[in-house]
Amino acid sequence: MTVPLPSLGFENTAFWTGGERGELLIHRCRDCTRWLHPAAPICRYCYSRAIGPEKTRGSGTVYSYTINRQPWLSTLPVPYAIAVIQLDEDPSLRLTTRLVDVAPDAVRIGLRVVVCFEQIEDVWLPLFAPEGATA
Ligand SMILES: [Zn+2]
Repeated sequence: MTVPLPSLGFENTAFWTGGERGELLIHRCRDCTRWLHPAAPICRYCYSRAIGPEKTRGSGTVYSYTINRQPWLSTLPVPYAIAVIQLDEDPSLRLTTRLVDVAPDAVRIGLRVVVCFEQIEDVWLPLFAPEGATA
C-alpha cells in the first residue's frame, strides 16, 4: 500500500472501483441531470433521490493545484502535484486528486489532463496525467 485508502460504502463504491473497467464514474441526478461529487443520497440541486453512477469522459483541466514537498508518507516520493480537476462534463464538477507523469514545475492552471488509475487492493485511485503522456 502506498497511500491511505478510502472505506467503500454504498455511495462511493462506484467512484473508487470504476477504474477496474477504466471508467471514472460520478453520481448524476436522473431528474435534473446535474453531476454530484462527492456522491450524496439526495440531489443537492432538486432533492431527487433518483441518483446513480454514470461514466464520464475522464478528461478535464487543472482548475487549481499545489506542489507538495512534505514527505507525509514514506511510500510516496516528493515533490508531487495535488490538483483540483474541472471535468469536461460540467464546470462545477471538480475533484481533488494527484497528478502523475508530469514534472511538478510543468503543472499549470488550464493544463489538459486525462484520468488514469492506480489499483491498490480493492480500490482504483483516479489520478490524472497530461493529455498525451504515457502512463
Ligand atoms: Zn437533481
